[in-house]
Amino acid sequence: MERILIRGGRVVNADCSEEADVLVEGGLVRAVGPGLRPASSAGLRVVDAAGLLVLPGGVDTHTNLQFPFMGTQSKDDFFQGTKAALAGGTTMVIDFAIPQKGGSLIEAFEKWRGWADPKVCCDYALHVAVTWWSDKVKEEMKLLAQEKGVNSFKMFMAYKDLYMVGDPELHAAFSQCKEIGAIAQVHAENGDLIAEGAKKMLALGITGPEGHELSRPEEVEAEATQRAITIASSVNCPLFVVHVMSKSAAKVIADARRQGKVVYGEPIAAGLGLDGTHYWHKEWHHAAAYVMGPPLRPDSTTPDFLMNLLANGDLTVTGTDNCTFDICQKALGKDDFRKIPNGLNGLEDRMSVIWEKGVHSGKMDENRFVAVTSTNAAKIFNMYPRKGRIAVGSDADIVIWDPKATRTISAKTHHHAIDFNVFEGMVCHGVPVVTISRGKVVYQNGMFNVTAGEGKYIPREPFPEYVYKRIKQRDQVCQPVPVKRAPYVGKVISLATVPK
Ligand SMILES: [Zn+2]
Repeated sequence: MERILIRGGRVVNADCSEEADVLVEGGLVRAVGPGLRPASSAGLRVVDAAGLLVLPGGVDTHTNLQFPFMGTQSKDDFFQGTKAALAGGTTMVIDFAIPQKGGSLIEAFEKWRGWADPKVCCDYALHVAVTWWSDKVKEEMKLLAQEKGVNSFKMFMAYKDLYMVGDPELHAAFSQCKEIGAIAQVHAENGDLIAEGAKKMLALGITGPEGHELSRPEEVEAEATQRAITIASSVNCPLFVVHVMSKSAAKVIADARRQGKVVYGEPIAAGLGLDGTHYWHKEWHHAAAYVMGPPLRPDSTTPDFLMNLLANGDLTVTGTDNCTFDICQKALGKDDFRKIPNGLNGLEDRMSVIWEKGVHSGKMDENRFVAVTSTNAAKIFNMYPRKGRIAVGSDADIVIWDPKATRTISAKTHHHAIDFNVFEGMVCHGVPVVTISRGKVVYQNGMFNVTAGEGKYIPREPFPEYVYKRIKQRDQVCQPVPVKRAPYVGKVISLATVPK
């Protein structure tokens, strides 16, 4: 195990910043304070952080690594994906184990563990999807929560016939989440309307990537978001809306929060940095590269809007939905946009994109940056303060960040397994200089020191206090009670006398 002294930096947590050294030993933060002098310098590696920020490593709440999807498999596997993450200052990913309809949730979970464990370069956890409903699913959710460290379950309101569940299943799944102390997550889009919209576009002769957005415009996302919130609220279950991509869906979430609902919104790097005008690009392969669900929005004011809400607390955490497909895979849909594998990159660039568009732009400060890139995720998914904070006893997942340096994002220099980067050419202030994962320097000035399988699965306890304190209190004080009144004693008509 390495011993590391990070000297002379500015330690930034979600609540405050301080000039302090950080001592790392045995994979943990052992001391934080000015002018630290470790008793022994044996094996001590000193990292100079003068003029730099020392941040909790990023937590990406939404990845799909080596995901079997739409007839193919996403290119970034658990090795290459987590390596790219580390290069960008992200030290933990939460991926999705997704069973087929009729399949076992536990088997899916174990399958994903089998893929991830030998390959991950940083810590990871798994959300599990509920793609169908039965007593067995209900029982497996409980087992996963109590014995496997899963406290979040995702339901799809889109991908009809593949993963989509209807309102009764949502109600059942949300109720069970509540019962076992989990967070319900939704992919919020109206899958029935998408299927109809796609048919309409094809009938109009629109087969290209623009048809993808046109067939699922933002009201389709906003409607499903509203519906999910209504259903979750009816059973007092906390809700986490993944990949919030449109202004109207974000407004629905902001309004619900103003009504006191326990709901969290997760914009992603692509939605915060890009708009959907790319779908109208003349080069087919360029337009197809941006296809994901829900789509980026052609309204070019969308990224700025989402970033403002993220800065001001209406939206809470950030992921990427990193699910990369190369051009040949995307070409499965060359004649029909419905067959273009959905997904794009973001895992490596999330931190820089949010720094550039959020912090450099003056929308949020460095503390809010930490909150939305790691701390809030750690709190919601019950890993705080082990993750998402630099404090004595926390995991030594740290990124040393140069807020003044810039880098230009490019597929030529990125570490993803594909030859296209949706942020190509974007110049970002905010550059990760050194990344420390599990107490080891894994990335420094462009050089990696990683080993496949070095990351660990992080089990998460149910009933995260950050989320469930309010939920439990509401259960106690907000139950409707019957009105006490004397029984009605007057006449009642006989139904037999009512004419048919
Ligand atoms: Zn999704």
